[in-house]
Amino acid sequence: MTFISRTILPTPPAVPNIFPFLSPIASSKPTRNGTQIQCCKKDEISSNNPQRKAAKQPMNNPSRNPRKKASYGASRRSVIKKSFSQEQVEFKSPLSSDPTVGIIGGGMSGLVCALYLEKRGIKSTVFDTGIHGLGGRMGTRIIDPQALIFDHAAQFFTVTDPKFAEIVDLWSKNGLVREWNGTIGELEAGGCFVPLPPSPPRYIGINGMRPLAESILSETSMVNVVRPCWVSKLEPYNGMWYLSEKGKPCGHFDAIVIAHNGKCANRLLASSGLPLIARQMKRLDLSAIWALLAAFEDPLPVPSTGSAFPFEGAFVKGIDALSWMANNTTKLFGPQSSGPHCWTFFSTATFGKQNKVPQESIPSTTAEKVKEAMLEGVELALGLQKNTLKKPFYSRLQLWGAALPTNSPGIPCIFDPHGRAGVCGDWLLGSSLEASALSGIALANHASFLISSLSICGLLAAKSNLIADYFQSGGTCPDEFAVGLQNEFQPLKGHDIGQFPGLETNKARDLQLTT
Ligand SMILES: Cc1cc2nc3c(=O)[nH]c(=O)nc-3n(C[C@H](O)[C@H](O)[C@H](O)COP(=O)(O)OP(=O)(O)OC[C@H]3O[C@@H](n4cnc5c(N)ncnc54)[C@H](O)[C@@H]3O)c2cc1C
Repeated sequence: MTFISRTILPTPPAVPNIFPFLSPIASSKPTRNGTQIQCCKKDEISSNNPQRKAAKQPMNNPSRNPRKKASYGASRRSVIKKSFSQEQVEFKSPLSSDPTVGIIGGGMSGLVCALYLEKRGIKSTVFDTGIHGLGGRMGTRIIDPQALIFDHAAQFFTVTDPKFAEIVDLWSKNGLVREWNGTIGELEAGGCFVPLPPSPPRYIGINGMRPLAESILSETSMVNVVRPCWVSKLEPYNGMWYLSEKGKPCGHFDAIVIAHNGKCANRLLASSGLPLIARQMKRLDLSAIWALLAAFEDPLPVPSTGSAFPFEGAFVKGIDALSWMANNTTKLFGPQSSGPHCWTFFSTATFGKQNKVPQESIPSTTAEKVKEAMLEGVELALGLQKNTLKKPFYSRLQLWGAALPTNSPGIPCIFDPHGRAGVCGDWLLGSSLEASALSGIALANHASFLISSLSICGLLAAKSNLIADYFQSGGTCPDEFAVGLQNEFQPLKGHDIGQFPGLETNKARDLQLTT
């Protein structure tokens, strides 16, 4: 890849931005559809590289107090303090006519945002930490050489909104999704199984969830992906956002999108110059959920469903260590498939909280304890005698430390027009794949609307010789595009692993029956 070397000079406010987008510094290889998948490599950037120097420049306004460096090892308390004391960034230079957006997070919301930005003619680069692939919490694990397959977060999804239906239709046309026709129900401790009605339909990825994330990219030609890459710093300078990974520049962008949540997002925002976004992000509460992936030689002795085939998925009730169990093998390959049976078990959020540890370094004693408790939970749920469940020949435990939102501002996206920064993700609307897709679409449309509207405002202002007034006043137009910066959060209802319309109806029915 050609690296465009450019010296970056300080630009006074209100002078049009003359620095076109500089691609992230990375090696790249084209994919089938021409999308560039890039991998950051440390030694590709030399220390006297001008872009590297540029990324270390102070902020645009020299009279500003120099901001303290974010401490990525900082405690939550100090991160919170820093984000409230930071100053708001105000970009005053006009936007480039050919802007590029940096999207931090390659889960459903970030990828959909990139796709919809492209539909409006805007380029983007998506950064994601994923080592195995994109998708975040719509991950699928394939364990070789046995070719065991597990959806290890999102299990299925429902569709209520026509905009999400468009995406699902596309997946369906490309042979990537189908309806999950297996029996799903509610399982009470002791083995009492009650099937859920098949409507509203539930959809699954035919080869698991992850290919769905990757296929979003195949619809694009103006989206770059950089992974694995952990964006650790955002710096506003010269009308652009400079992104870096542990001191290594990742490029600069006209606007940024935060498409992830949790501790990582709080740290990233702690000293970025976006206090309003940082405050909203910090109001978010997230659950923790343990996931146990386990492969058994034989089918599990599950209770009868009243149909010819055993259940494939169950919302578990009344057991702390277990909230969901699903047989990936029958879900993906049909009820009569042979071979090892790959199950995904999820704990409840209460159990996740009680046994929370740093997800990157789970102590082996905790791992053993959690695994044992979850397998005991399976025995209890299936109504089996203690210690009669056959041991899995393969198992893997994972903690989703920032699993699902438990509160939400209930708006599709957040946008700070002065900082030219937006936020999308499931938590803005709910806790499901549909919520995250809708959020990505909303932000893309909003961000592109902002960009075109800014140009319109600029043009109108220029015609009436008001351009300087417009920018010096801080811009009257941008305020009209501020979204979600003040909204209050409300608790989110739903199951521990998300919001599913069919399940809510069932809960309401249960309530009616008991009252
Ligand atoms: C256990 C579990 C079960 C679930 N089951 C279901 C289900 O059955 N049905 C359903 O509809 N929903 C389910 N969900 C919810 C669903 O998975 C999420 O709502 C959805 O995937 C969220 O997408 P997102 O884009 O908002 O966030 P994410 O998928 O979390 O994407 C964020 C991405 O950003 C990356 N990232 C984070 N920090 C950085 C950084 N600094 N630099 C670069 N990249 C970064 C992350 O690695 C991640 O890939 C489940 C979730 C969990 C945890």
